[in-house]
Amino acid sequence: MLKKQLYLPTDIKICEFEHFKNHSCIVHGIFTRAGGTSTGAFDSLNIGINSGDELLAVANNRKVIIRKMGTKPFVFLNQVHRSGVKVLKKDDITISENFQLDTEAATADAIVTDMKDVFLVIQVADCQAVMLYDPEKKVIANIHSGWQGSVKNIIGKCVDKMIFEFGCEPENIMAGISPSLGPCCSEFVNYKDEIPENLWKYKIKNKDYFNFWNMSADQLMDKGVKKECIENMEICTKCNTDMFYSFRGEKTTGRFACVISMQ
Ligand SMILES: [Zn+2]
Repeated sequence: MLKKQLYLPTDIKICEFEHFKNHSCIVHGIFTRAGGTSTGAFDSLNIGINSGDELLAVANNRKVIIRKMGTKPFVFLNQVHRSGVKVLKKDDITISENFQLDTEAATADAIVTDMKDVFLVIQVADCQAVMLYDPEKKVIANIHSGWQGSVKNIIGKCVDKMIFEFGCEPENIMAGISPSLGPCCSEFVNYKDEIPENLWKYKIKNKDYFNFWNMSADQLMDKGVKKECIENMEICTKCNTDMFYSFRGEKTTGRFACVISMQ
């Protein structure tokens, strides 16, 4: 009789920001879509419970990520394209259950903490995950910023939270921008209705395309983050659907995991 086999992924791929690698207390990674259990449009490491995928497959994929990064609390958010920032503190109810495999811990689009050994998770498919780290105050954040988040400047609001809640100084903050929709593919034919006029300077000349990567970098620098402390992977998800999920490229698709923790 055949033994029931445990699923052990071998083809997981993780991208890292170069400047975080120099900080040994930071454990982070952008998972690609490879190495999971989902099939079809969700092939294969989909962690989005609202993507339309089978919940059991999503729960298994979340387990794969947790196993890969180490068994610590993982905090998944119910991301709603608004500008709510969750501040995670000791004894927070959201980490008391340890892992959330089929529910989200809190509704917010950014999360900040000074706690160690907790993984902050952002799930995306074209939207940016923006990771922040202040090595002086030992504070980390993970932000979900799609075009609606860009319009609401959730990045700036998250930096404000780091300043007011934890006394961070923006010039110490390091930032990383995940693979996301690049200026090559960010077409907004209805931009006059969707994007406020003060952001039209990011429109590419003679096209209805926008550079949200530059917008995010400016939102960070407007708060005082130094240009040299911002690292953008400059990988467009829609141009790379073999590696990443892309809502624009695929419509029905999964969400890939962007995780950061401090030891
Ligand atoms: Zn592209």
